[in-house]
Amino acid sequence: MLLDFNKSEIKEYVTALGEPTFRAGQLFDALLQAKNIDEISNLSSSFKDKIANDYPSFCILKKLISQDGTTKYIFKFLDGEIVEGVLMKYKYGNTLCVSTQVGCRMGCAFCASGMNGLKRNLSAGEILQQVLCVNRDQGGNIKNRKVTNIVLMGMGEPLDNYDNVTKFLKLVSSNEGINISQRNITLSTCGLVPKIYQLADEGFTVNLTISLHATNDENRQKIMPVAKSYSIEQILNACKYYFEKTGRRFGFEYALVAGQNDSIKDADNLASLLKGLPCMVNLIPLNYVKGKKLSGANEKQTKAFLDRLLCRNINATKRRTMGADISGACGQLRRKVLEEGS
Ligand code: SAH
Repeated sequence: MLLDFNKSEIKEYVTALGEPTFRAGQLFDALLQAKNIDEISNLSSSFKDKIANDYPSFCILKKLISQDGTTKYIFKFLDGEIVEGVLMKYKYGNTLCVSTQVGCRMGCAFCASGMNGLKRNLSAGEILQQVLCVNRDQGGNIKNRKVTNIVLMGMGEPLDNYDNVTKFLKLVSSNEGINISQRNITLSTCGLVPKIYQLADEGFTVNLTISLHATNDENRQKIMPVAKSYSIEQILNACKYYFEKTGRRFGFEYALVAGQNDSIKDADNLASLLKGLPCMVNLIPLNYVKGKKLSGANEKQTKAFLDRLLCRNINATKRRTMGADISGACGQLRRKVLEEGS
C-alpha cells in the first residue's frame, strides 16, 4: 500500500513504472490529503490504472459523536478488517487516539480490545491512514492540521508491532509528510521491556507511558498476563534508561478497579514505588466493558487516591473520561463493533 512509503520510496515506485518523477510529488500530495483515487485530477487515467491496486481508499466507515464532542471513528481497511480510533478536542489542539493492531494478544482482564485475541498487525501505512483520514474529515490539510497530537492508545499493543509502529513514527513525523513532532506523540505500552530499550537506542523521542494498574508483581499478574514475563522493577529500569537516553519524562496509567487496587494503602505503595522518578501518573477510573466483571472506583475513592499521591509529592492527574457514551473511552475499543451494534 502506497502509504507505507516515504517520499523517496514513492519516487522510486513512480520511476519503476516508467513515469516522470514529478508525478511522484503529485501522488505524494494526494496521499497526504487522503484523497480517493478518483478525486485526483492531475494524474492521467492510464497512470491511475497502473497504481490502482496499491492506492488506499478512504478508510472512515462510520463516526459517532459524543455529547462532549469526542468523536469515535470506525476505520475499515482493504481486507475488510475494522479498528477504532477516537478524536478528543482540547484547547491546545486535537488528539487522535489510533489503533496499532486488529485485536490484541496481551489479554488484560479489564480491556475490550483483546477479548477476541489478535487478528493481525496494522501496517505503518494503515496507522498513518487513520491520522490522514481524520485530518481530512475534520477539514484539515497539511499546512493547517486538525490532528495536532497522537496517542497510540487505541486497539493493540504498539510494541508488539514494533517494526510497523516505528516506521509509522518516522512517516508521521517527517517534515516531508504531515510533520507531527514526536514530542506530540505518546506511545502507551503494557510494558514490553526489551522493546522500550530498543526504542530508546534507535533514537525515538516520543512520550512513553506504561499501563501499570498495580503496585506489585503478584497483583499485576492477576490482571495483566504480560506481568509474568516482565517485573515492575524491570519496567522501571527500562523507563529510567529511556529518560537518560531521550530526556523525555515518562508516565504511568493506573486504572482504578473497585476493591482491588484503589485503597489508600495502594496509593501509598504506588507513591513509594515511584518516589523520585521523573514521571507522572494518570488515574483512570476503570471504564465499563460488557462481559467483564470488574468495576471502576467511585469518585470519592478516586479523589482520595489522587489526593494521597499528591500529598506524597507524586505528580498525578485524574484522566477526564471522554466519549464513554459512545464506548470510545479507554479499554472500550474493540474489533467486532458493527456486528454487536454498539
Ligand atoms: N496496549 C497498550 C495500548 C492500549 S492503551 C497499553 O496497554 O498501554 C489503552 C489504555 O487503556 C491502557 O492504559 C489500558 O490499560 C487502559 N484500559 C484498558 N481497559 C480499560 C478499562 N476498561 N478502563 C480503563 N482503562 C482501560
